[in-house]
Amino acid sequence: MLKLQKNYSLNDLNTFGFDALAESFIEIDSRDLLVEVVEYCQSNNLPLLILGGGSNLILSDQISGLVARMLNKGIEIISQQGDQLQLKVAAGEGWHDTVVYAMSQGYFGLENLALIPGTVGAAPMQNIGAYGVELKDRVAWVEVLDTQTHQFLSLSSLDCQFSYRDSLFKSVEPGRYIITDVVFNLTRDATQLNLEYLALKDTCEALAKGSSITPYHVFDAVCQLRRQKLPDPAIIGNVGSFFKNPRVSVVEYERLKAEFPALVGFADGEGYKLAAGWLIEACGWKGKQLGAVGVYEKQALVLVNHGKGDRRQIETLAEQIRESVQQRFGVLLEVEPRFYP
Ligand code: FAD
Ligand code: NAP
Repeated sequence: MLKLQKNYSLNDLNTFGFDALAESFIEIDSRDLLVEVVEYCQSNNLPLLILGGGSNLILSDQISGLVARMLNKGIEIISQQGDQLQLKVAAGEGWHDTVVYAMSQGYFGLENLALIPGTVGAAPMQNIGAYGVELKDRVAWVEVLDTQTHQFLSLSSLDCQFSYRDSLFKSVEPGRYIITDVVFNLTRDATQLNLEYLALKDTCEALAKGSSITPYHVFDAVCQLRRQKLPDPAIIGNVGSFFKNPRVSVVEYERLKAEFPALVGFADGEGYKLAAGWLIEACGWKGKQLGAVGVYEKQALVLVNHGKGDRRQIETLAEQIRESVQQRFGVLLEVEPRFYP
């Protein structure tokens, strides 16, 4: 018999801080309980929301069906050879805690992804990325429950179809797989650093003060940069970047760059990636408020809840931003977080 909690408040379980009430709620700490929950929802025809840290979700005030929060724990090395090792981490572990743990053990590779909120299990959903590293660069495989067959599977990085802020789990077969564990390829070699992003390189150099840059400098620099620029959800509600950075063709990039010389873009595959934050700021949105919600004053890509905001207000603000960016630049912004339901 499942111990469901009825009319459960999710106000503290979504980083926007929106008021949201789940019809039923349960915490999941084992694979057996996960299977039971999935069977219960399927036999009663109930929608099931798998919840991590709620940092990439925009919730409605009433959520019908069941909300199941992943809280399974565990971190272990499952193989090692020379400097290389594979670390298996349960979905319910905190993402940043896992990065801190890996650093404390001298396992490197996750340092560029420090201070991203949320859980390990949600990280493959949108292939989290920051400062030139994406989750896909470090994933060996992902362990999942297939809700169609009720089997536990291991999906290789290739199977997960990772791409920019996207994956099999987010857009190809949303809802089919529940992630139970993620296995990372990490290294004890402290010389394999990614310092592609200029601000990161500059901050690392300042921290290293002339000595060699280590993964610990990278970790500290990422934390420092993020604290300077991003709102802490514990203080001001937000879900990080609200829009993806749009991709355009070379021709389109050159047209825009000729008209707007300050445009920020980076060569990316066969085209260019534009900095969505720059487009939004150029339309005058930075720091603007609309009711109780607004655009963060230090980074225009982040929408914030100043206190009593709700999903409807965020939708209105996001739509106005999309329209103005499209009118001025002819570029369509795509929302990054998930609206539920
Ligand atoms: P939730 O918001 O709880 O869930 C997100 C989605 O994943 C939902 O669809 C949910 O159903 C699903 N899900 C959750 N757990 C599982 C599971 N075990 N199995 C299957 N599905 C699951 N993102 C980046 O990519 N890079 C960043 O640098 C970054 N910075 C951020 C900074 C701030 C201040 C904030 C608030 C957000 C930021 N984000 C960033 C977005 C967010 O933190 C990530 O997407 C994170 O991985 C979401 O984790 P979560 O546990 O909070 O997921
Ligand atoms: P930033 O460093 O000011 O850079 C602005 C944009 O330019 C970023 O979106 C980044 O793309 C791109 N960029 C900068 N240098 C680049 C390079 N050398 N090569 C390719 N692209 C480059 O960005 P920020 O707002 O301070 O964020 C820092 C990092 O944290 C970024 O990687 C960002 O994605 C990540 N972040 C993500 C979220 C989220 O919710 N998704 C929230 C906060 C921060 P990318 O975004 O593709 O990296």
